[in-house]
Amino acid sequence: MFGNLKAQPADKILALMVEFKADPRTDKIDLGVGVYRNAEGITPVMRAVKSAEKRIWETQESKSYTGLAGDSAYTQALSALILGDAVAPGQIAAVATPGGTGAVRQAFELVRMANPDARVFVSNPTWPNHLSILKYLGMETIAYRYFDEESRAVDFAGMMADLAQVRAGDIVLLHGCCHNPTGANLNLTEWQAVVDHLNATGAIPMIDIAYQGFGDGLEADAAGTRLVASSCPEVLIAASCSKNFGVYRERTGLLMAVVHETAQQALTQETLAYLNRQNYSFPPDHGARVVATILNDEALRADWQAELEDTRLSMLSLRQKLADELQTLTGSDRFGFLAQHRGMFSRLGASPEQVQAMKTKHGIYMVGDSRMNIAGLNAATVPLLARAIVDSGV
Ligand code: PMP
Repeated sequence: MFGNLKAQPADKILALMVEFKADPRTDKIDLGVGVYRNAEGITPVMRAVKSAEKRIWETQESKSYTGLAGDSAYTQALSALILGDAVAPGQIAAVATPGGTGAVRQAFELVRMANPDARVFVSNPTWPNHLSILKYLGMETIAYRYFDEESRAVDFAGMMADLAQVRAGDIVLLHGCCHNPTGANLNLTEWQAVVDHLNATGAIPMIDIAYQGFGDGLEADAAGTRLVASSCPEVLIAASCSKNFGVYRERTGLLMAVVHETAQQALTQETLAYLNRQNYSFPPDHGARVVATILNDEALRADWQAELEDTRLSMLSLRQKLADELQTLTGSDRFGFLAQHRGMFSRLGASPEQVQAMKTKHGIYMVGDSRMNIAGLNAATVPLLARAIVDSGV
C-alpha cells in the first residue's frame, strides 16, 4: 500500500526555512515564512495571551469536550470582532476550526456539498494553500487578474474583466485585508464595485481574513468584509487568529456563513458542525478560549489592542524606512509601493534570478515570487536589503 504513494510537491516556503537555517552566514536575513517577528527577531507571546492563559490555568476545572461548533463565547466574540454589527446574529452560522486553514478547508467542503458545480475564482496570485486545498478537493478553480506587475498595485480593471465570467453560484475568493502574497489591497470603492457585480451575477463571495489589525487597524481592516457581509445575501468568511493574537501553533480559526434567510441559519449551522465531526470532531479549544477570554475582558482586550497596534505601526515604519532608503539610493519613487502596501507582505516584483542573486550574494531569503515578509526586517537590516535590491538590478 505505502509503495503506491506519490511524492507530493514540497512546500516552497517551508523548504526555504530549512535552507535559511543551514546557511552559515551570520548576517543572513530571513524574509520568508509568514510569521511576525519583533525588532529582536522574536515571535512573542502577546501580553494579553499570557494573562489569559494564566487565568484559564487558575480557573479551568475540566478539559472535557466542548461542542462540535466550539465554545459559543469564542464564536460570538470573534464574529463580533470581525463583523461588528454589519449582520444580525441570527444570520450567522459559525464554527471554531483548527486555524484559518481549517476554516478555508471547511468552507470549500461546504461549497462542494451545496453546489458541486461551483467554480472557485481566486486572485492571481493568492496564498498557495488555497490552490493546493482546492486541487486536493478536486474543485474547479479559475484565476482572476489581481496584481499589476508594473505598478505593484491592484489591477482592478483586469480583476473586474476576469470576474465578468462568473456565473450564479460560483465562489469568488477575496482576501479581507493585507493580501497575501502581494500586500496590495482593494479600496472601499473597489469593494463596493465587486459587491455590486457579485449581486448582479449571483456569485457568492468567500472572504479569507487572516491579518485583521495588521494593515490599517482592526476596524479599517474589517471594512471590506463588513461591506460584503451586509450587502450580499450569502457569504462565507474564514478567519484566523494566528497572526493578530500570535497563537499560531494553537490552531485558532473561525468559519462563518452569513445566511440570507434566518430560516437557513439552523441548517447551515448543523452542516458546519457535521463537517467538523467528519474531519476532526471537536475543534481545538485552548487558543479559542484564550481569544474569548481576551475579547470578553475590558482590560485584557485593551492591552491586546495596544500591543497589536504597536505591531502594526512597527511594520508600517519598516515599510516607510525601506521605501525612503530605496528612494535615496535610486533617486526615484519607483519603490514607493512598499509604503502603500499593507500587512506583513509585499511582492517586490523581482525576477526569479534576482531573488536567487539576493540569496546567494547577500544572504537575503525571500519567497521565489519575491514575496518579502516585512516583519523579518529591523532598523539595521533595512539599509542592507535596500542595497541588495538595487545591486540585484530590481
Ligand atoms: N489565509 C491566509 C491568506 C494566510 O496567509 C494564512 C496564514 N499563512 C491562513 C489563511 C491560515 O493561517 P492559519 O491556518 O495558520 O491560521
